[in-house]
Amino acid sequence: MARKIDVDRDLCMGSGQCVFYAPRTFDQDETTVAIVTNADGDSSVNIRTAVEACPTQALSFDEDGD
Ligand code: SF4
Repeated sequence: MARKIDVDRDLCMGSGQCVFYAPRTFDQDETTVAIVTNADGDSSVNIRTAVEACPTQALSFDEDGD
């Protein structure tokens, strides 16, 4: 089962917290909107921290990919 991480591009305001807390999972594109570079890049704890730190709740994380 693969992890599933989604970025709501309409909600993302480009604050960069997700990149700060999980830099091997997230990056920001040329418009500063977050993108997932590697769903397995960081520990679940770090990804969860990034999701919780997002100021606009733009991220969702399904650890089992269901
Ligand atoms: S923390 Fe949230 S608002 Fe900030 S760049 Fe990441 S997804 Fe976008």
